[in-house]
Amino acid sequence: MLGAPGAGKGTQADIIAAKYEIPHISTGDIFRANLKEGTELGKKAQVYMDRGDLVPDELTVEMLLDRVAKDDCKKGYVLDGFPRNIPQAEVLDKELSAHHDAVDYCINVDVPDENIVTRMSGRRSCPKCGAIYHIVHIKPDKEGICDKCGTALTQREDDREETVRKRLAVYHEQTAPLIDYYEKKGLLRTVDGTRDMKKVTEQIFSILKD
Ligand code: AMP
Repeated sequence: MLGAPGAGKGTQADIIAAKYEIPHISTGDIFRANLKEGTELGKKAQVYMDRGDLVPDELTVEMLLDRVAKDDCKKGYVLDGFPRNIPQAEVLDKELSAHHDAVDYCINVDVPDENIVTRMSGRRSCPKCGAIYHIVHIKPDKEGICDKCGTALTQREDDREETVRKRLAVYHEQTAPLIDYYEKKGLLRTVDGTRDMKKVTEQIFSILKD
């Protein structure tokens, strides 16, 4: 899944993963889990995450490759937030082809910057299970409480406006070149992420059926 921070790719990745019964692998979630557990990796990553920068590839790539080598990934998986730059995409391709595997599709969830900042300020997440909500678009059943585990929802440090603007700048500079990278490989499928969430899901499912 490709897209700016807050484009809704995490939510869509969750839905795809549930439908195909495959893991949803979010490098951001893995970093946040490490951070919560107070691991060395978490401590190192936090500095970059809090200021909206990418965590260096040395810390990210191996972590991701270890994850996709696990047994539950044999049937496939949805990558969300990885690759985040061209070098990460190249390592992924190399590693997959060494295992006679490849990326099937790159789903690009397209949302203009102006929409992103408004959206992100309404985003709330569960500090316990990582579920994502929005005060307007994806309301939990009970205001401020996670539907899945009953924990009080919070605003992530990196969802604050100035961090969002920084993350958007990083996205355009480092991640957006991947649009061209996957386009050239014939794998890019762009969906309009400004549409209703269910419509975006429908569009993605029709792509995956092909
Ligand atoms: P996300 O939840 O995907 O928006 O990720 C939150 C933060 O984790 C990002 O702003 C980065 O600091 C870091 N991060 C997540 N995935 C990557 C990646 N593939 N490469 C580098 N940093 C990442």
